[in-house]
This record gives sequence, structure tokens and C-alpha cells, in this order.
Amino acid sequence: MSDIIFDTHAHYDMERFDADREELLSSLPDRGVRAVINCGTHIESSRASVRLAEKYDYFYAACGIYPHDWDGGRRMSASSAIDLLRNMAEHKKVVAIGEIGLDHRYEGTARDAQREIFIKQLELAEELGLPVILHDGEAHGDMMDILREYKPRGVLHCFSGSVEMMREVTRLGMYIGVGGALTFKNAVKRTAVVKAMPEEYLLFETDAPYMAPVPCRGQRCDSSMIAFTAQRAAEIRATDKSRLLKASAENACRLFGLDMSGICG
Ligand SMILES: [Zn+2]
Repeated sequence: MSDIIFDTHAHYDMERFDADREELLSSLPDRGVRAVINCGTHIESSRASVRLAEKYDYFYAACGIYPHDWDGGRRMSASSAIDLLRNMAEHKKVVAIGEIGLDHRYEGTARDAQREIFIKQLELAEELGLPVILHDGEAHGDMMDILREYKPRGVLHCFSGSVEMMREVTRLGMYIGVGGALTFKNAVKRTAVVKAMPEEYLLFETDAPYMAPVPCRGQRCDSSMIAFTAQRAAEIRATDKSRLLKASAENACRLFGLDMSGICG
């Protein structure tokens, strides 16, 4: 079986791709990449994600505002930002609201402002019937409180929680995003999570240009490198890489409402 790569989380609008974006994105399908979801982190990058999805058949877009990319409403009120996202999400290639969430790793946007724009975006996703792509930067407790209360449909991207947290998240029906960090030497918790998780909740992702897996660690990441992450996951689960890639692609099609025969066939 040849590899079927569905990258559920990438940022190809970023400057790191300016020099060769077109060349790179034209070449990825030849390396097994069947689908990519490009995630916005603010209004402008959400628009850029939609433009990429218009240009490349295999691209889809997520529109959203990342916790530290929200200025607390100084330039634009939260309700105006939500209206802009709502308009963008009308596009047929917008398949999710994301990348949204909470980030407590460093001082940036105040926590109450992060929470406000996060919850407004969860409500927007619910209103539009779209799944969400969530970022949880060392904010597990607050994130779980919100997931229990709002019960969104979606994925916890770059999952960094414990096995116990994974069990609760999947019981709530949320998917688990697994990226290049799984291949790093210190990935003890991530390894345990990948070993224990139900296969039907697994989604592979890159977070390109970040998080390139070993043996590409430190390089600019692209979606084809998911093959290394999947290889590591297959070793941990004592299964076959290509089969796991296909299962993850099918999970992604189910979550994001995409035609499975077109992508996974
Ligand atoms: Zn991201």
C-alpha cells in the first residue's frame, strides 16, 4: 500500500514558505500528500488559508484566531472578528474553526481575553456546525473545564496531555492530533498516549513549518514528513505505517466532513 498522507494541521501561509511555496505545494501530492488543512491564527492568515484552498485542490482551510494573536479587542471588537470569521467560513473549502484555544506557556494575551475569544469561536463553530482545531499550550486544566462544558466536536492538536487526559478527551468524542514531537527523544508521555489511544481518534499532523520529526528535526517541516511520525507511531503500536496513515486519513475525512473515496481511495 502506498502512503496516504492527510496533514490535519499546517501553516503554509507563513513567511518561511515565501521563497518556494508554489514549487513545494505543487510537489507534495507526488510524495503521498492527499490533503492538507491550512490553519489560520488571525484574520489575515485565515484569509490566506482560504486563498491556498482555492488555489490547490488538495488544500482545505480552517479559520480562527490563536490565543496570543488576539489583541484583546484593541483593533477590532470580538464581535467584529467573529463576523469576519463567519463570512469566511461560508466558503465551501473551510472545514473547521481553528487554530483556537488557550496558551499559558508565556505572558502574552491576558488569560481572560484568551478565554473570551476562544469561547466566542466555540460558539461560532457550534452555530455553523463546523468542528474545531484546538491549541492547548500548558493549559490542560482550563481546557478540560471548557471541553466538559461546551463539548465541541474537533481535535486537540499537538496533544501533550497524559494518558488519563487522552481517555477523557476521546470519551468526549474529541480527536487527538499527533505530530513530529512523537519522534523526539523525550517523548515519554506522547509515546504512552499513542500506545493507549483508540485508533479511531488518531489524526496525524505537522504544524509545518514547525515540529519537523526526527530525522528532519530542526529543518523546515512539510507535510511529506508525516511519514516519519507515522513510522514511529506504527512501531509504538506494533502495526503497519501505511495502514495507520490510511486510518488517520479516514478519521480526518469523518471529522471534517470530506469525501473519503476521493482522498483515501
Ligand atoms: Zn498550529
